[in-house]
Amino acid sequence: MRFDRYLKGLHAKFIALVCLTLLLMLAVVVLMLQRQSAMQHEVVRQSRDSMHALVFERLRVHGEALSAQVADTLVNPLYYFDLDTIGVVARNVLRQPDVRYVLVYDNKGDIIHDGSGDIPTYGQAMRDPLAYEAVSANGVHAQWTDRVLDVSSPIRVGDQRLGGVRIGYSLEAVRADENRASSALGERLGAIGTRHLWWIGLLLVALVGLGAIASLVLQRALVRPIRQLADAAQEIETGNYATAVPASKRNDEVGDLMRAFGRMGDSIARHDRDIRRMAYTDALTGLANRLAFRESLDQRLMQLRGAGRQLALLFADIDDFKRVNDTLGHDAGDEVLVQFANRIRTQVDRFGDADETMLARFGGDEFVILLQGGGSGRDVREQASDLAATLVAELGRPIVVQGRQVFLGTSIGITLFPEDASGATALMKNGDIAMYQAKVAGKSCYRFYSRAMDQAVERRVRMEQDLRGAWDRGELSLAYQPIYRLGDGQLVGAEALLRWHHPEQGSIAPSVFIDVAEQSGLIETIGPEVLRVACNDAVRWHTQFNRGKELFVSVNVSPRQLRSGELPDQVATVLRDTGLPASQLHIELTETAVIGDEVHASALLARLRSTGVKVWLDDFGTGFSGLSHLRRVPVDGVKIDRSFVSDVLRDPDDLALTTAIIAMAHSLGITVIAEGVEKEGQYAILRERGCDLAQGYWIGHPVNVQEFCGLLA
Ligand code: C2E
Ligand code: MG
Ligand code: MG
Repeated sequence: MRFDRYLKGLHAKFIALVCLTLLLMLAVVVLMLQRQSAMQHEVVRQSRDSMHALVFERLRVHGEALSAQVADTLVNPLYYFDLDTIGVVARNVLRQPDVRYVLVYDNKGDIIHDGSGDIPTYGQAMRDPLAYEAVSANGVHAQWTDRVLDVSSPIRVGDQRLGGVRIGYSLEAVRADENRASSALGERLGAIGTRHLWWIGLLLVALVGLGAIASLVLQRALVRPIRQLADAAQEIETGNYATAVPASKRNDEVGDLMRAFGRMGDSIARHDRDIRRMAYTDALTGLANRLAFRESLDQRLMQLRGAGRQLALLFADIDDFKRVNDTLGHDAGDEVLVQFANRIRTQVDRFGDADETMLARFGGDEFVILLQGGGSGRDVREQASDLAATLVAELGRPIVVQGRQVFLGTSIGITLFPEDASGATALMKNGDIAMYQAKVAGKSCYRFYSRAMDQAVERRVRMEQDLRGAWDRGELSLAYQPIYRLGDGQLVGAEALLRWHHPEQGSIAPSVFIDVAEQSGLIETIGPEVLRVACNDAVRWHTQFNRGKELFVSVNVSPRQLRSGELPDQVATVLRDTGLPASQLHIELTETAVIGDEVHASALLARLRSTGVKVWLDDFGTGFSGLSHLRRVPVDGVKIDRSFVSDVLRDPDDLALTTAIIAMAHSLGITVIAEGVEKEGQYAILRERGCDLAQGYWIGHPVNVQEFCGLLA
């Protein structure tokens, strides 16, 4: 793999370039050598030719001079036919170097002497191929064959030709000389060529060495650092930021690059850590967030699956946390969350060591605790219920926020692995369902998940579907609970309370279905219908029963209806349509509806009240509005919550509070109504403290409209 990369890389390209250059140079050298040897041959040939021409020319000149001289010398001897003298001359000539033959001949071309002692050829005609030209030439004449140079010269006395002399030179010796000279030349040239070859070879070796050194330098100085950077970049790309680029002490650009790259790697790693921290922690509480929890849960489930170990998830949700936000503002809400987180953390830390537990905030007011069983040998279910019980108690203690004491509870849902589910998604869904069931069961408690709970959730979904068309099918009706004046015990009005008679399940408690209607938004269609029917019924009381003139009807309106902003118009329309005097309609709003958005709500309430409709605050005392809020929110009456009324006889604090509410309300000109009067004693004490109106089972249960009419009659 590594080697493969080197074959493709920069280094390979460089080596290829060097090799190519060397090959090219080698080719040039070979060509040069070829040219050199061809030139050597040419030079040798040329010099041999010119040498030949030179030597031959000199031999010819020499031969011509000698033959002319010999011809002169032989004039007299031939004239007198002195064979001895001719022989002496001829032998002298023969003694000359390279002379092969001497022939003295007569006018006809017959040999007279050849330089030998007994002249065996005497009188013979010359028959060799050169004879004819030699005899017939008028002056000195040279001719040659491959082997001899023949120079002839006529011998004359005056104009008379006596004969001639031919001297034959052997050309073999000349040729041998030439050969010797040219082979010496060839040798010299060869030696020079070999020397050149050595030099070129040496040069080539030097070049190869240089190429190798350059490649090595390139490899060390450029390729290796680049390769290291590329490897580091690749590691970073795969998310492994820990791979450091080796520190470089180099002082050049590559060193700068490596250092810059190292710094860049560090900074990416730092950013990655920051982003991870941001992505995995809840900014408000510093706890792990949903994402971190989910990842860690998945991981643990994978480890635990084969190991046969157990795990519990606790889903804790603060009860009515929305009320804190709505009434005290979001800063207070945040403070509550932080304090809750701290309390939970303290308990969880006490409960198990860090690798057995994990705590996360899932956004909003939901906290999730993971508890891994097996450490202490105790059953995880037991551990989880211990922790849940501790948390419920601990989180139920009052919290001080912005100088106020706030009572909040927590509902906890618990689900177990592997009993309830084996996957993270299913476990988290189960935990949610169990937590929801804890809420339904009355809040401030914990519940273990069971399969039956799935059915409960299903039931709720079905209830929403059933409720959707309930009004049109006539399943919804109104009950009226009489309201009495405490001073004289007179019936002064009635509160309209919604009833649902389900075709299969019978009557369903308003506390259950009103919640569903509120959460699903169905209340926005049901609410106006309730208003219309209640007003119609009230008008009937007025017309059917003479004494009904002063009877009012009080209608509950959900926070959602108020928030939509259409309430004042709806009320006005219904009053116009039914003809009910505005003063005979009372609207009951819970504190949360009013105080959630005080400015908006106050404006709406002011509009409502300007038409003459009275506005009452329902369930007063359970929220956080406090008495001081009464000054700012324009209402006509407050309904003291049943929880206070039920305890006025037993708890002096509740009696004091009830008395204070009455006094405060009266000082502001606000009517006080007591709810849930179940005992005579309660009735008496409320009357004694100056409470204006009261309703409750002791005075009158909610009844249907016919029964209520019967009451009037
Ligand atoms: P609420 O407005 O506080 O109504 C008074 C509740 O107290 C009624 O419960 C009534 O039956 C009950 N009650 C009256 N006297 C006594 C008593 O002496 N002892 C006890 N323990 N309870 C008493 P209900 O009818 O179950 O209604 C529950 C809640 O449902 C109501 O509380 C109201 O907030 C809501 N609700 C009822 N009808 C409507 C409606 O038409 N629209 C809206 N938005 N909410 C409604
Ligand atoms: Mg009410
Ligand atoms: Mg009430």
